[in-house]
Amino acid sequence: MKTETIQQVALVTGGSRGIGAATCVQLARAGYAVIVNYAASQATADQLCQSIQAAGGTALGLQADVANEAQVLALFAAIDAKFGRLDALVNNAGVVDMTARLDEMSMARWRRMFDINVIGSLLCAREAVRRMSTQHGKQGGAIVNLSSAAAKLGSPGQYLDYAASKGAIDTFTLGLAKEVAAEGIRVNGVRPGIIDTEIHASGGLPNRVAQVAPQVPMQRGGTADEVASAIVWLLSDAASYVTGTTIDVTGGR
Ligand code: NAP
Repeated sequence: MKTETIQQVALVTGGSRGIGAATCVQLARAGYAVIVNYAASQATADQLCQSIQAAGGTALGLQADVANEAQVLALFAAIDAKFGRLDALVNNAGVVDMTARLDEMSMARWRRMFDINVIGSLLCAREAVRRMSTQHGKQGGAIVNLSSAAAKLGSPGQYLDYAASKGAIDTFTLGLAKEVAAEGIRVNGVRPGIIDTEIHASGGLPNRVAQVAPQVPMQRGGTADEVASAIVWLLSDAASYVTGTTIDVTGGR
């Protein structure tokens, strides 16, 4: 008897660049159909989708600002229409801001930081749980939230608002994991250390990886691929008894 294998579907928020893009490539190689979400960089997302497809994978670029509820609902509706299921969510979209002390920061900065890093992750997880939970008659699934070593280090004098937003992600990972553990959904986190991506330039520190590397026990920054490997493992059946955990990928920092 011939059995048809159903292709698993994964959504990576902020999948167009950096850690998200590396995760999309590795998930496609592992056989997932991958949704490459982005906020603004459509050309970069399209290019990534084309290269995944050229390698025999399935990828679809979809725009949505994760901090905008209407756009997130439209994103998930588009996934429903195209694939009819969701098996994996990587809450990867995240932002930093310019180096500043708390007494120099504005309310607008905190709103943007928490709206994208925290509310965006909650929103996408809510929509994913509705499409994964056995309580909703679905097949189960796995979620990975991107935290940061900053959640443990606090980032004083640099961006403690960012560190606090990632601390919230650690607690969210723990709570949601316990809430949906009996509903076929595993929820875990990854805490990257200093990783070579464009995020540092967006915070005004393009040379940050080289500057911080001497403080890392392994004496170097990490690569997006090294973080993606941990994410993909947590999503896989190889991690079938792992939930509520956040893994440090920090070179020992
Ligand atoms: P990155 O290179 O700056 O890429 C960020 C990605 O997020 C881009 O695809 C960007 O899309 C997307 N994005 C930003 N705002 C968004 C929004 N509102 N809605 C949807 N997508 C949005 O960042 P990265 O270094 O790969 O970081 C990825 C994650 O790892 C983040 O959560 C970050 O906090 C965390 N992390 C990174 C490091 C590090 O050293 N790199 C360390 C610890 C934790 P557009 O280009 O379209 O804006």
